[in-house]
Amino acid sequence: MDWTIPQDVQTFIADLDVFIDEQIKPLEAEQPHFFDHRREWARTDWERDGFPKQEWRDLLQRMRRISDDAGFFRYPLPSALGGQDGTNLAMATIREHLLTKGSGLHFPHADEHSVVANLPVALVLHSFGTAEQKEQYLEPLIRGEIEIAFGLTEPGHGSDATYIETTAVKDGDDWVISGAKRFNSLVDCSETDIVFARTSGQHGKAEGITAFLVPTDAPGFSVPFNHWTFNMPSDHSEVHLDNVRVPSSAIIGEEGRGLDTAQLFVHENRIRQAASSLGAAQYCINESVRYAQERVVFGKPLHEHQGIQWQLVELQTEAELIRALIQKTATMMDDVGKTGVSANVAMVNFRANQLACTAADRAMQIHGGVGYTRHKQFEHLYRHHRRYRITEGTDELQKRRIAASMFDFRSSRT
Ligand SMILES: Cc1cc2nc3c(=O)[nH]c(=O)nc-3n(C[C@H](O)[C@H](O)[C@H](O)COP(=O)(O)OP(=O)(O)OC[C@H]3O[C@@H](n4cnc5c(N)ncnc54)[C@H](O)[C@@H]3O)c2cc1C
Repeated sequence: MDWTIPQDVQTFIADLDVFIDEQIKPLEAEQPHFFDHRREWARTDWERDGFPKQEWRDLLQRMRRISDDAGFFRYPLPSALGGQDGTNLAMATIREHLLTKGSGLHFPHADEHSVVANLPVALVLHSFGTAEQKEQYLEPLIRGEIEIAFGLTEPGHGSDATYIETTAVKDGDDWVISGAKRFNSLVDCSETDIVFARTSGQHGKAEGITAFLVPTDAPGFSVPFNHWTFNMPSDHSEVHLDNVRVPSSAIIGEEGRGLDTAQLFVHENRIRQAASSLGAAQYCINESVRYAQERVVFGKPLHEHQGIQWQLVELQTEAELIRALIQKTATMMDDVGKTGVSANVAMVNFRANQLACTAADRAMQIHGGVGYTRHKQFEHLYRHHRRYRITEGTDELQKRRIAASMFDFRSSRT
């Protein structure tokens, strides 16, 4: 077994580091309030229900454009979309690397913004969209000129997505959609929402759920309120759909097979999320090792106390174990495809997300009072990565997926 990261990926990362130093860090330095201890305050429009401020979104958009023009942003996308067909192993390695640098404009820990794209909606459109849908949405989406939200979760159903209560009823060539969505991220700035609705079949069955591309300005589509969350700003909104009418051409993928698109969305995300969490954990470990060597307590450096060493030793051991399984899993995904690796993906997802939170918590402890301040990044990292233990399938649902493979039953969550 060869554990060497392929040379082309190493070269890409080296070039990416130079690009970040030369083009992204100066941009970050122009507006330090978005990144220092004022970050949540500066990024949040408190008067507009806690949504991101427009200036903050504009900065993220500038970063994306510069990265796209420099040839980095589309790296993981298929070559048909101007990308470089980046492999799962490459993306896991890149995501870990970016996060090991800590938070910054290269990866601001706000959502999935990054100098290297993570755009599962683009992959969904690429794989399932009609020629017209691709033509209308794909390039503007990749360029950041439009956003497309993803509305699966509902007030009554999250993990049990096959029980959703939103319905779509056929009326001539149209469909009429009614129901509600919860935590519908980005919907405030999206021109379209991918809305999942039951069109046939029974509760508890994946078959019969259809995905629709719904314009957010359609009559009957409303955003009654936004959910304020642990990490601010928040763009995770409640959505009401009251007899929203769309044509049949709004269906993405096959009628009744909408959860196939959701499957693709979360599958791509879960291993990358794990790699990101691993990188964040490694950042916390590295910072703590550095601080433990500088800080003197009771007349000797902190790191000479075994109680401190062992905390960091345990974290580093866990990080190495998770890294090995991420690399193995990503390689399997590249070699044999996505089927058959779900249990591995679930394993690295919940363990890496937990590790990021534990490492941030320990880093705070090892740094003492300084660790608790907003001048360090640990509280920020904790809040962002704590989210990953819930979104894209909770820790418990990842375990359920592993159990499904061990005990040979079919997991009904996407
Ligand atoms: C910041 C944020 C952004 C989000 N963005 C989006 C988005 O853009 N689009 C979207 O569709 N959704 C989004 N979500 C929703 C997210 O996907 C759901 O919150 C998640 O799937 C969990 O669903 P739930 O909140 O309904 O919890 P529930 O499903 O009600 O679960 C509650 C608890 O029960 C546990 N549980 C459930 N089933 C089992 C079981 N079988 N065995 C043991 N334990 C179980 C869960 O693990 C959890 O701990 C977002 C959520 C957040 C917080």
